[in-house]
Amino acid sequence: MPMQSVNPATGEVLEEFEPDRPERIEEKLARAWAAYGEHRATPFADRSQRMMRAAEILEEEKGQFARMMTEEMGKPIGAAVAEAEKCAWACRFYAENAERMLADEEVETSARRSFVKYLPVGPVLAVMPWNFPFWQVFRFAAPALMAGNVGLLKHASNVPRCATAIEDIFRRAGFVVGAFQALLIDSGAVAAVLDDPRVRAATLTGSNSAGAAIAERAGRRIKKTVLELGGSDPFIVMPSAKLESAISTAVTARTINNGESCIAAKRFIVHEAVYDRFVDGLVKGLEGLELGDPLDEQTQIGPLATPAIAEELDDQVRRTVAAGARVLTGGRRLDGPGNFYLPTVLSDIPPGSPAACEELFGPVAAVFEVGGLDEAIALANDSIYGLGCSVWTQEEEERTRFINEIETGLIFVNAMVASDPRLPFGGVKESGYGRELGVWGIREFVNAKAVWIAGDG
Ligand code: NAP
Repeated sequence: MPMQSVNPATGEVLEEFEPDRPERIEEKLARAWAAYGEHRATPFADRSQRMMRAAEILEEEKGQFARMMTEEMGKPIGAAVAEAEKCAWACRFYAENAERMLADEEVETSARRSFVKYLPVGPVLAVMPWNFPFWQVFRFAAPALMAGNVGLLKHASNVPRCATAIEDIFRRAGFVVGAFQALLIDSGAVAAVLDDPRVRAATLTGSNSAGAAIAERAGRRIKKTVLELGGSDPFIVMPSAKLESAISTAVTARTINNGESCIAAKRFIVHEAVYDRFVDGLVKGLEGLELGDPLDEQTQIGPLATPAIAEELDDQVRRTVAAGARVLTGGRRLDGPGNFYLPTVLSDIPPGSPAACEELFGPVAAVFEVGGLDEAIALANDSIYGLGCSVWTQEEEERTRFINEIETGLIFVNAMVASDPRLPFGGVKESGYGRELGVWGIREFVNAKAVWIAGDG
């Protein structure tokens, strides 16, 4: 079956791609292995120059790349431009800092000299999702290439145009041929690639079931993995919060990227003293958003990426309502073409229902009323996920308790959760393990080799 690029706003098939056959996959693996031998020997200065060029290409052509993302997965065009710019930022960040981050580290011992040397590990398989079709890839690729590794991208099947465009960016930037290649394969073909001895490690950003499949397979061959999985991020509002700011941020935090973001705020946990005002503001804010053609610059919410995603979200909302929740606004798909889902607020959510325990990957806010700090923390932690959390309070004591007690990999105080190339990004519990970005990200796929020199021998 060919891979299809389908416009989620219209259902129109934009292009079809022939998946790579086994012989083609073998060619790419052989090329990756050969490229690794060459690329790992290049000095940091050369890699930096190429990575800077990749940043320039992203900036020079951000309009075309943005249109490509929007047409393939439906994000509003303004957000797609910002995504291309953020990728350029990550390329520059690692171009400027990788050498320092991976410099030899002297360690005092009884040896004449002992130190840690950070060496590349080889070809790394990156299994990536469609929701940030450029950003997810660049935040892996920029540090991996700067560290001397080479990349094999298995992108989500619905974004083949983005996959091939990214391969092309690195080729045009001057990286060794084969240093970064897109494999046009479906998920069924991943295991064989992962088993190949030339593939030394893997990273996956995506759903928990996909993460478990990759980790299990990689485990059989003792290959390292980094997993960035789902989330059901709490957004906690306490009585001292600046409410206007909390409400407007809540609207953005739930609907960013059409609500299809791992770090979107999903569970709004609100103190009873401000609950009514917050919920009223949230409902009004969501109702005021412009829904429509994602290529139109006025649009704030576009279609969900595929019909299956819209159906799944609708099913989760229906099951939550059937369990006893109330719909305060939205609660259904929009009639007509495209995978549009109305911004939705659900309240009175029973424990155990989908909105309480599952990830809702679309513009559906679940609100919960709590009586105090302990209850807020307990509810926030009552999840299999532990990715991000946003807390709104002016009280220092509350802030300290949130920072120390919320079980997530990221916590933002009086701000919305976001990724930043300078800070580590990743989750705990079933949101995954390992970190991307910052020095932590570039050190995931390196061999921290201990070197001991006793004397002159
Ligand atoms: P997905 O269905 O898991 O797909 C992600 C990638 O994994 C795709 O390339 C997919 O290929 C592949 N895949 C799926 N099942 C696989 C399997 N059994 N073996 C090997 N590969 C497999 O996830 P999605 O629906 O695209 O993305 C949404 C999910 O990603 C959400 O849960 C979201 O929270 C999470 N996410 C997490 C982060 C983070 O940083 N923590 C960031 C963004 C998204 P095909 O397309 O060919 O199926």
